[in-house]
Formats: sequence, C-alpha cells, structure tokens
Amino acid sequence: MKDQLEQLQKQALAELGGVNSEDELQSLKVRFLGKKGELTAIMKGIGALSPEERPLIGQVVNAVRDRLEEGFESTSLSLKERLKNEKLSSELLDVTLPGRRTPAGTKHPVTLVIEEICDIFAGLGFLVAEGPEIELDYYNFEALNFPKDHPARDMQDTFFVQDNLLLRTHTSPVQIRTMIKQQPPLRIIAPGTVYRCDYDATHSPMFHQIEGLMVDKGITFGDLKGILTVFTSQMFGSDIGVRLRPSFFPFTEPSAEVDIACVICRGEGCRVCKNSGWLEILGAGMVDPEVFRHVDYDSEKVSGFAFGMGIERVAMLKYGINDMRLLFENDVRFLSQF
Ligand SMILES: [Zn+2]
Repeated sequence: MKDQLEQLQKQALAELGGVNSEDELQSLKVRFLGKKGELTAIMKGIGALSPEERPLIGQVVNAVRDRLEEGFESTSLSLKERLKNEKLSSELLDVTLPGRRTPAGTKHPVTLVIEEICDIFAGLGFLVAEGPEIELDYYNFEALNFPKDHPARDMQDTFFVQDNLLLRTHTSPVQIRTMIKQQPPLRIIAPGTVYRCDYDATHSPMFHQIEGLMVDKGITFGDLKGILTVFTSQMFGSDIGVRLRPSFFPFTEPSAEVDIACVICRGEGCRVCKNSGWLEILGAGMVDPEVFRHVDYDSEKVSGFAFGMGIERVAMLKYGINDMRLLFENDVRFLSQF
C-alpha cells in the first residue's frame, strides 16, 4: 500500500509538470485529491490492514496529501505568473509609435464676428449684456414703443409661442431689461440669436444681432456717430467711408441707417452694392423719450443712443460670402476656411 501511495505521488507530480491551463490543473486535482479521486480509492483499503499497520499508513497518506496539495498550490501560482507574462508580451505596447491627432475644429464665422465686435466695443468701455430668446411682447414690442398695430407684430413676421410670448425678433429687448435693472450711466452691447419668419439668400428664420446702448447725461448724436465711426474703421479698415441716412425706428428718434463704402468695389459701384457704392450695415438713433418712460428714466436728465446690426450681414461683407444659407449649412469644407 505504501508503494501504491508513493507511485501515486510520483505520477501526480509528473503530470503537474505538464499542466498548461487552469482547467487542466483543476481536473487533475479532482482526479488525485477529489472525493472520488485516486487517493481516496487507495485509502478505502486501510480498513483491511492490521491495527499496527494502520497508523503507519495513515502517516504516509497525510504526507502524500500534504505534498500533493503543496504541489498543486505552487503549480497554480507559477501557472498564473506564466499566463500573465504571456499576455503581457503578446499585448506589447510600442510607445514610440506616433500618436493619432484629434482633428481641431475652427470657430464659426458668426462666432468670430461676434467676438471681434465685442472686443472693439469692450475697448470703448461697453459691457456685454444678455436676455432670453423667448420674450414677452412687453419687452420685445410695447416698451420699445411699437404701436399695437405695427406690422412687425404680425403673425407673418413674428414666431409667437403664445398670445403674449414670442421668439424675440431683435436684441433690442435687452435694452429694456438692462435699463429696468440699472441706473445710468450705462454702456452695453448685447449679442444674441433672433427669429423672424423669413427665408431666402439674404434672410434666415434664425439669425444673430448685436445691440448697443449708451445712456448718460448729455449724450448726443455726435457721440453716436463718433462711436460708430471708430467701430467701422476697426472692423473694416480705417479708410472705409461711412454715411448716415435718416430713417425711422419706433424706439429711436431721430433714427439713422448707417452705410459703409462697398467693401467689394470700394465705392466704384458693383453688383453687391447694386451700383450705389454703399452697403447698409446697421440701424441706430437716439433713444426715444417714450422708451425711457417705460423704464423710469428721466429724459430731461439723461439721453442716449442705441444701434443694432445683423451679425450674418457683417460676416458676409467681411468675408465676401454671397449666400447667408452657407452660414447655417455646417459644411466643414466651408467653415474650416475661417
Ligand atoms: Zn460695390
């Protein structure tokens, strides 16, 4: 019986040496040490031994079991180590390979123009102000002195959310919201998205405007012209011609439309300027006393000017873009040129 046990130990250790996976190891363990394994089978013969032999064989059984368990344990450890090393060497990472570059995006021309205009006015002491895109009729029309029957209030021009609630048609409501919160003096510009029912090569239902407002004691039309001349010369070049034409807006009096000399033909006359040599870029004027009344400003004590311009129009003139829809189609081939 002792020989049988020694033979078993020898065979088990020999087979352990050839194990290549956890599964093989496990089934080998069941075969030698399991409840129905070979060691148990030999131990069943112990009952037939004489009482003197039993303890001696019992010692041998224990020694063999200990030796085998130790063998399985160390084989398991070395197997794990070996498999880990094989995995590491097969998944070797070459850190000297060049990396993959993430393609960098470019800023949208509308964003570039907004940033440039904000920069120019920041240099003149203007702060950026903001307001909601879903606006009350009061801020969008009434407080800006639009009469109840003004055509801009028509369903055809304005997107209404409810009776009294609409997508703002211009950035001018930010003037009202700012004046209600703050006392003069103030100098703000308000860039943002506006909405109108309009769609063709020069109109989009969603576009961007930038609004300017300056209120203080003794502000005159001369200040307005001075500020706008500084702006156009920084935006389009110092030699660009500027002219003001009388116009009408409900919230300014007097009002003017501001033209710059055509950036394409420099005043000679071309298709873009319809041979006039001039391009309209913004509307402006002195804040109407009726607007001041709505925000509790005393028009006897303070005066101010306001102006507004379409960002897309400025971008089209600055970059020579002939169709506004290009600005909203998000074609990367177009956008990456800026
Ligand atoms: Zn022209």
